[in-house]
Formats: sequence, structure tokens, C-alpha cells
Amino acid sequence: MSTTEELYQHFLKNPVISTDTRNISDGCIFFALKGDNFNANTFAAQAIDKGASFAVVDEAEYVTSERYLLVEDTLSALQDLASHHRKQLNIPVIGLTGSNGKTTSKELVNAVLAERYKTFATFGNLNNHIGVPLSILSIGSDVEIAVIEMGANHQKEIELLCTIAQPTHGIITNVGMAHLDGFGGFEGVKKGKAELYAYLKETQGYTFINRDNSHLMEMSAAAGLSKLIFYGTENGNTIKGELKSSDPFIEVVWTNHEILSTVKTNLTGSYNFENILASICIGDFFDMNPEEINNGLANYQPQNNRSQLTKTESNTVICDFYNANPSSMSAALDNIAVLTADKKIAILGDMFELGAESAGQHKLIAEQAVKSGLDKIIFIGKYFSVLSNDYAGVFFETPAQAIEYLAENKITNSLVLLKGSRGMKLESLLAYL
Ligand code: ATP
Ligand code: MG
Repeated sequence: MSTTEELYQHFLKNPVISTDTRNISDGCIFFALKGDNFNANTFAAQAIDKGASFAVVDEAEYVTSERYLLVEDTLSALQDLASHHRKQLNIPVIGLTGSNGKTTSKELVNAVLAERYKTFATFGNLNNHIGVPLSILSIGSDVEIAVIEMGANHQKEIELLCTIAQPTHGIITNVGMAHLDGFGGFEGVKKGKAELYAYLKETQGYTFINRDNSHLMEMSAAAGLSKLIFYGTENGNTIKGELKSSDPFIEVVWTNHEILSTVKTNLTGSYNFENILASICIGDFFDMNPEEINNGLANYQPQNNRSQLTKTESNTVICDFYNANPSSMSAALDNIAVLTADKKIAILGDMFELGAESAGQHKLIAEQAVKSGLDKIIFIGKYFSVLSNDYAGVFFETPAQAIEYLAENKITNSLVLLKGSRGMKLESLLAYL
């Protein structure tokens, strides 16, 4: 029996995986992974003590009983097990990647499909080389459709994730200025994301595609895809939609060419229009009727600091501080520019992982921000603060300095956009708004 088969036999008896000793359930399989700053082989004994049925390790010295399984590489063993489990599941898996809007689209697709099917969707943002196998291993035998988010910040990552998740259907939400550092510029981003198209071409899977996005159209043509299902704003798409309102919540009118319907969502941000249309297109493809699709969308409440409109005592805050890159920052500025409010303020934090393009991209965003008709802009971070002589705004190097400022210069009765990279932790400012 191969190691993977042996592991799979254990997994069938108790299909729970753990990679964290703080999170051990009775009978689970513990995978001792390694990171830059830790080696979980050293925690394997602790995992067994806490109730793991056995531990998969990749250093022989930690094997002290028959409850340890020694493999060459624990991460590969985890990925191989996931890929083996996936093969046993005879269900559609929708693989979802893109520069922006993956988690939001994944949640929306799941909200729609769950109106009819027993679904599984990636928990939170578990979208990398560890998260995807863990997600796949969480798919139970009763699940009818799975939606798997795939993230990447370098080439060949999506290719690997496809071999694990084996998507039968796929969607790239968009390609933009994200992780430029690891991908090697925008062309690199396109190449990296197109690995999903290459997989779908090879396996003859279906691809959902936003026909309004010329980059995606070009990439799908280059990949030679044929099983395409289109959505967009023009005639000729399977699902045609129009943004009816985005002030402050998104309302979409759409048609499957038989029925015309309107759906009101609880999402803010006009950029969510394309995420919503994607989920409609996928619901329609899986034979759902407009009523079911619209129910799923109307009942979805964003709760993850992505495009979430929050009323504080003094202001309305667009909580979008989960993450930022130049594309999503630009989309958020476009959005606040068209919203109705007496006073509009943007609090923008630095964007990370842009490599050589960092200075230029921060400059472009600052330029867009000052042209957005805002009453005040507060820039935070070391990349933005070097621009303090060039643009009108208030500049701080750290969130702590901005908090001091906000405590003394209270913002009231305003619509506030709060957005920056995860590492900027702009959530610390919310209490002062
Ligand atoms: P991550 O790479 O962190 O997993 P993600 O691709 O999953 O990000 P989301 O978490 O869904 O993206 O959204 C993050 C932010 O990106 C949102 O809060 C919003 O500002 C922006 N965003 C969402 N959808 C789009 C879109 N279609 N176009 C541009 N920006 C978007
Ligand atoms: Mg995500």
C-alpha cells in the first residue's frame, strides 16, 4: 500500500485533519508542517498526547511509536492525500481565482448554490498550498457542489492547486495589480492566473468568463478554451446584467433571456457588480431559477470587513480594511466618488507586495484620491508618507500616529472609506471613527 493509500484508510475512519496542536480533536490526523519560523515535527508528540490518532512527520528522530507515520515531506503528503480524496468525490468543483474579489465571489457563489444544493465552500480565506488541501479534505460525502478559492502570489501555484482541487469548472474573477512582486509585474499576474485556464483546457472543464474584461478574453483565447459560459453587460452573454444602483448598496437587473429580474444586495462597492454577476451565471448554469438565485444573493450579509458598510455612533464607515492593492484601492476610490454623502473622507493605508512598482503605484493612488472629490484624505504608512509634499492630505507613518490625530480631530457625520493592506491593521482606527 502506498503512503497516500495508508493515510487515506486512516482518513476514512476519522476524516479530520489538524496542522495545529491548539486545535486537536479526538482521533484526528496531525500533519507536522514546517514554516520559516517553526518545525511542527517538534509538536507531534504533543498532538498525540492531546488525542490525535497519529501524527505524520518528516524527521525520523520524532518517530517514537507506531502512531507516527514517517513520510519524505509532510506538506506533499497532505497535498497528495487531498488530491486522492478529491478523486473519490464525484462532484463538480468550482475553482475560483483572480486578483481581487475571490473570497467575495466564493461567498456569493456559495450563497446562491446553497439555495438548492448541499454545498461546501472554502472557509474564510484558506486559499493557498496548505489551505486548499485542507479545504478539499473538509468536503464530506454528502456535498453536491464545492467552491474552492485559489490564491497565488507566484507562478506555478495555481497549477499546483489545480492538481489538488481538480476543478471541473473554473472562473478567474479578474486580473489586476496584485502581488506584482512575486508574479513579476502585470504580465506575470496574467500568466500565473492563466494556469487555471490551462488546466480547464486540458481537462475539458467549463469556464465562466466576464466578457467585459478584455484581459480575460485574451487569456481564454490564448489558452484555446472552448467550453465557455459568458456573463457581462452586453447582449450575447448567457447572463446579461446591469448595475441599477450602487448608492450605497448594489442592485442588479439581470436576465437569462427568459426572465428579467432585479436583486437588491447588502454589499456596497460598485466593483461587486461583477462578483454578483459571476454568481448569478454560475447559479443559472447549475439549473437554478432566478428566484432561488436572487434569494441567495439578497440574504447574503458581508461580515468580513470586505465592502462592509458599518454605522458607527458618528459616521458611516466603508470597512474595506481586510486588504488592499492598487486595483482594489482604485476601485474603492471610484466607488466612494459616486456615493451620496454630505462629507466624504478616505483613510488609506500602504499597499504591500508591489516590489519595484511600489513607489509608482502609491503615487498613482494618491493622485486618484486627490481627484476624487473627497473632503479629506488621511494617508498612513511609509510608502504614502514620502508623498506628503506632493499631494494635499494628512500624512502619518503609522496607524498609532493617525489614532492620536483622530482623537484630537474628531470626524463626524461623514462617509469614511477605511482601506489598506492587511499588515497595516487599519481596524485599530475603527474605534476612533
Ligand atoms: P485575497 O487575495 O486577500 O484572498 P480576494 O481576492 O479574496 O483577496 P476579497 O477578499 O473578496 O478578495 O476582496 C478584497 C477587496 O478587494 C474588497 O474588499 C474590495 O475592496 C476589493 N474587490 C472585491 N472585488 C473586486 C473586484 N471585482 N474588482 C476590484 N476590487 C475588488
Ligand atoms: Mg480571499
